[in-house]
Amino acid sequence: VLRVDDVYKSFGSVPVLRGIDLVVHQHEVVALIGASGSGKSTLLRVINLLERVDDGQVWLTGRDISDPRANGDAVRARIGVVFQQFNLFPHLSVLDNVTLASRIVHRVPRRTAEARGLELLDQIGLSAKARDFPDRLSGGQQQRAAIVRAIMTDPELLLLDEVTSALDPELVGEVLDLVRQLKQSGTTIVMATHEMGFARDVADRVAFIDAGRVLEFGPPEQVFDAPREPRTRAFLARIP
Ligand code: ATP
Ligand code: MG
Repeated sequence: VLRVDDVYKSFGSVPVLRGIDLVVHQHEVVALIGASGSGKSTLLRVINLLERVDDGQVWLTGRDISDPRANGDAVRARIGVVFQQFNLFPHLSVLDNVTLASRIVHRVPRRTAEARGLELLDQIGLSAKARDFPDRLSGGQQQRAAIVRAIMTDPELLLLDEVTSALDPELVGEVLDLVRQLKQSGTTIVMATHEMGFARDVADRVAFIDAGRVLEFGPPEQVFDAPREPRTRAFLARIP
């Protein structure tokens, strides 16, 4: 589904991505781990064309989306994204938030979009909140609604950037449960996370990002229990 091929990205004179290679297969969940500032969010933003690469290619289902002529809006319509901070529009109801992209970008009729939105909200126990504004929801509920919004349009790829790190600890579990459900339903996911336990539990493969490179990439048992690289070991040793 996704192939990142020798991608470079600098901000000014600061190199942030320094030859990233990454392949993600359909239905696979890949966790990006690594120190703060190692480039995880930048990589996700490059995949979503919020940043353009300096060099290298990004392929999404066989198409080079890093081509300067690629249409960013068209690419983003095929990718769902959820960031750390809550992504809902405060002036729209939960249901309007959830259905907005499918109605505007994908031109799904309102009734169809709302029926689908209510169905998904119901699955995560939030249908009673559909007509409320986001500030009536807990952080965990908001974040789950943001994830529902991202999957409303059946994206080929779902990018999750630290979706639990702004949450109170007791709300983290419900968001992680939703990600687990998405994995079971076959959603292809790339997620940056500081939750090592979760990465171990849900990821098919884990990529350790170190100073803008994928230093180690393999199943969680390998990366966490038998890391090959001394720097991976050093990173994991610092995690409580
Ligand atoms: P964290 O775990 O803290 O989220 P990260 O791995 O996601 O870290 P990035 O956010 O990708 O790291 O940042 C990598 C580096 O790029 C950092 O040094 C950051 O300051 C720099 N950086 C990111 N975005 C920009 C930008 N728009 N302009 C300038 N520098 C940036
Ligand atoms: Mg980040």
